Amino acid sequence: MTVTVRFAPSPTGLLHVGNARIALINWLFAKAHGGYFLLRYDDTDAERSRPEYADAIVEDLRWLGTLWDKKAFQSRRLDHYRAAAETLKAAGRLYACYETPEELEIKRRRQLATGRSPVYDRAHLHLAPGERRAFEAEGRVPHWRFRLDHKPAKWDDVVRGESQVDCASLSDPVLIRADGSFLYTLPSVVDDLEMGVTHVIRGEDHVTNTAPQMQLFRALGGEPPSFAHVPLMTDLAGAGLSKRTGGLSLRELRADGYEALALACLLAKLGTSDAIEARTSMDALVDEFDMARFGRATPKFDPAELAHLNARLLHAMGFDEIKPRLESIGLREAGPEFWEMVRPNLATLTEAGYWWRVVNATIEPVLEDADFLAAAAALLPPEPWDAATWGAWTAAIKAATGRKGRDLFHPLRLALTGRGNGPELKNLLPLIGMKKTVGRLGGETV
Ligand code: GLU
Repeated sequence: MTVTVRFAPSPTGLLHVGNARIALINWLFAKAHGGYFLLRYDDTDAERSRPEYADAIVEDLRWLGTLWDKKAFQSRRLDHYRAAAETLKAAGRLYACYETPEELEIKRRRQLATGRSPVYDRAHLHLAPGERRAFEAEGRVPHWRFRLDHKPAKWDDVVRGESQVDCASLSDPVLIRADGSFLYTLPSVVDDLEMGVTHVIRGEDHVTNTAPQMQLFRALGGEPPSFAHVPLMTDLAGAGLSKRTGGLSLRELRADGYEALALACLLAKLGTSDAIEARTSMDALVDEFDMARFGRATPKFDPAELAHLNARLLHAMGFDEIKPRLESIGLREAGPEFWEMVRPNLATLTEAGYWWRVVNATIEPVLEDADFLAAAAALLPPEPWDAATWGAWTAAIKAATGRKGRDLFHPLRLALTGRGNGPELKNLLPLIGMKKTVGRLGGETV
């Protein structure tokens, strides 16, 4: 059977690095096995799902480089879930419950107060037709629960190994709300079955769901897929990541100028026993991917580690590899010479845009000592300039002014580039050229 996996976000917020990690692991798994990667929107919650978030997810996954083979919206497949619900009803596995949320809450509190776990007591499992009619006459509309078999569900989790959840300790899950809308559990199983999902790779917050879902697969005439539950990533302080707060969102990282590939290099290896290293293509990550490397320790996202990796990745990129990215930030005319000059100092590619302006457009010079800079301007050798010009010029300034070291170089760098550090001036100077150099030494914005 062709390996088929899915990333199943609810479009209720922006993807954060934790969601992206799950998407990436699924994508890598699919690619490593020559399989399919599905993007499935779990959007049956009409109130919280938003089309703008669905669009944002597409944009973010494109940016990350995890393109899907097929996309599906659960909200457009409701007839499939209704049909499955009928199958379950006919098999006596789906039953109507008429308790109100308030009544259920009272039951729950009572159970807790007497030291019992708040498991649904199945009070409405065997309602007589007359009782049902009486509830309906009161205007009550039922929600629907799946009757679990009270036995342990066992599976060999790809990440967690032999796993077991005793269904006798769980409430019969509500599959359909009183308003007729479906909760996550049933649509997920129906889709996994109908879309031929072979491996469900998701966060370990879904371990408990796995047990009822396995029973659902079977109740619908299928076999459960393989499951791999990876520990959820936290921030450095150990706090969970949330779609709603927007912290560490892909948006934010992209706006900060990070390379998607640097993020992918980090996310592909966090939580595994592999070293985290810069790679210059997603294919390299696919080649190295092995689900068996994922362990059970909680991975923590460290922005400093991303920054580090991002810089290393940029420094390792050849011109041909970076060209499309340079174009994407508007540097269509940047050539190999420019790239070779800027890359050793870049923390993010966005900074290359600044150095492009230093060489080809206008910047505001920073003047520390106007007299010194005027003296330096008078000593500029005539063009053409090359990599030796800087050495010759600064030697002449040194001889004339007696300055050396930082006193000599720093004011020149500030005036010529507007910044205290950056690419080597011996490479920059010939590209800046005489006209801009003279102007900037005189304080002009050129
Ligand atoms: N919509 C669910 C989530 O985002 C999907 C869980 C699953 O992969 O089954 O957590």
